[in-house]
Order: sequence, then structure tokens, then C-alpha cells
Amino acid sequence: MSAGTRERVDEPSHLAFLFGDPVAHSLSPVIHNAAFSALGLDAEYRAMKISPGDLPEAVSSLRSEGVLGANITIPHKEAATALVDDLTPRAKTIGAVNTIGVKEDGRLLGDNTDVAGFLAPIGSHMESISGGSAVIFGAGGAARAVCYALLTTMRPSRLTIVARRIGQAEQLIADLAMADGSGVLCSTFFDEAGRTVRDSRLIVNATPVGMHPADAVSPWPAFSDFHDGQVVYDLVYAPAQNDKQTRLLREAADQGALAIGGMAMLIAQAAASFKLWTGREMPLDAVRKALSSTF
Ligand code: NAP
Repeated sequence: MSAGTRERVDEPSHLAFLFGDPVAHSLSPVIHNAAFSALGLDAEYRAMKISPGDLPEAVSSLRSEGVLGANITIPHKEAATALVDDLTPRAKTIGAVNTIGVKEDGRLLGDNTDVAGFLAPIGSHMESISGGSAVIFGAGGAARAVCYALLTTMRPSRLTIVARRIGQAEQLIADLAMADGSGVLCSTFFDEAGRTVRDSRLIVNATPVGMHPADAVSPWPAFSDFHDGQVVYDLVYAPAQNDKQTRLLREAADQGALAIGGMAMLIAQAAASFKLWTGREMPLDAVRKALSSTF
């Protein structure tokens, strides 16, 4: 089935989609369908498992009548940049699209709402971390959005990408050179990053390490490197057990650091997509209530 094809006679008048593989675990349908329902919109959000070969047709089908747009997830965020008509400057610099909207003239706009999503929960802490050094674990798609967000707001004195494949980190640095006007980006391996972690005001986990069910592991098990005055931000959503915190965040908080989990980012990036598609603010209370019943 292409994304725009109606399946039933009682179809909603508007549709939005998630294209990715896998998608079965995704919380995005819970979030967006709760928001549509709370606002009384005749719309539905559907997760579609799409192979790389089927992505061009799936994106093209967003031009069908009644389609609001789509979210794009692993492994298609980079490929989607070449399939839309226009890119926002941030999506272009990051090199990844997580949201496609349909403009009034019918053109498809690729955006990256992970930037706004990442910034939402640290906005109130920006003053304490601004101008200091920061470190990001991982060099994949989410790390790119985090890098862009930090370079354009926090203006860190140094931003270190910690990766197990240094070539991936170096590629990220080359691609984000446009946003890195003052050349603060650098890279290192995990086993060489101890001092960098201790000296950083902000530490971000942008790897999947610690994700349920592997929630006994941490991307930074040397927890004594954390201390008061640091912000530790784990993009991984909280697992169902362990007081809804990842091991990384539990250990960071025990050492006096401020811990931020990935759920707030998940909701905020969805809210930015929802606004692009509907022009409406996402009803966050209804969304949080729907999510709480899934955990
Ligand atoms: P990705 O593109 O696959 O990148 C993952 C990065 O983590 C890569 O650099 C990868 O390196 C590294 N990595 C994976 N396993 C590792 C390990 N055991 N040790 C060290 N590094 C490892 O994935 P992504 O889209 O960036 O997502 C990363 C995480 O962020 C996921 O858990 C995702 O759910 C989460 N996320 C959360 C939100 C939110 O709203 N909260 C939004 C986006 C992403 P290799 O390439 O060498 O494997």
C-alpha cells in the first residue's frame, strides 16, 4: 500500500505517517493520535515499515490529497534529504530529515525537528552550560542534530564527539563545518575521553546504549567522572523499570549532576512536527497521559 491510499470507507480525512524500519516499537503513533483525538481532528497517524527501496514511492505518495506529512526514522533520515523538494537550512546542514511537511503549493519540505526537541528540556539550563565545553557520545543521526543545536545556541568552548568509529565522527565534523563557525568541534575515542568528560559542563548520550531491554549498561560506566555542576542528558527514552531512568542518568544524579531523560525530547520533537503539519500546538497534557499508560 502506498502511504496516500485509503483502505477503508470510514477513513479519516487526514493522514500522517512514520516511515522507517523497524517501526513497531515507536511511540510516535501514541503521541500523535492522542493529540489528534484531544483536538477533535479527523486525522490518524500510521507507522509504516518501509524498506530503503520503497522509500521514494512512500515519500512521493505524501503528495496525495489529505496527507499532512510524515516522520522519517532509522534508516531513512539521510536518504530522505534527496527525495523532498525543499530543505530547511538546518536539515540541509545536518544532512538528515526527520519530518516532511506538505507546503501550500504542494511542495514537500524536509525539516529536522530533533533540533527543537533536543533544546526544549535544556532551555532553562542554558545559562549554566553556555560557553563551557560539551561532549556527545555517538556520531549518528541524532548526534548530528544535537551538534547543530549546541553550535547554534550554547556556543560551547569545545564540543567533543566521542565515537567508536573515529571516521564517522570526522565526517560529522566535516559536514557540520558550516554551523561550526569558530571551529570548536573535535573527536576522540571512548577510551581516551575521561578527562574530556570530567571537564565538560554538558554530556549527551546519542548512542542507543542503555536502551531497554539492555538497560543494565551505560555508555559511560566510569560514573565517578560525573559531578555537581554538570548536566547529563540521555537521548535514550526511559526504560519501564528502574524508576524510569537509564543507568547513565541514575549514576550521574547520584554524583550530583543534573539528569535529563529522552522522553521530553521525544515529545518536543513530535510537537514541532505536529505544528508543521497542523499549525496547532500539540496538547501536551493529553499526550503525556497517553504515554503514561504505555509504560
Ligand atoms: P544512529 O544513527 O544509529 O547512531 C547511533 C550512534 O551510536 C552511532 O555513532 C553508533 O556507532 C553509536 N553506537 C551504537 N552502539 C554503540 C555502542 N555499543 N558503543 C558506542 N557507540 C555506539 O542512531 P540515532 O538516530 O543517532 O539514535 C541514537 C539514539 O538516540 C537512539 O537510542 C535513539 O532512540 C535516540 N534518539 C532519541 C530521540 C528522542 O527524541 N529522545 C531522538 C532521536 C534519537 P556505530 O555506527 O559504530 O554503531
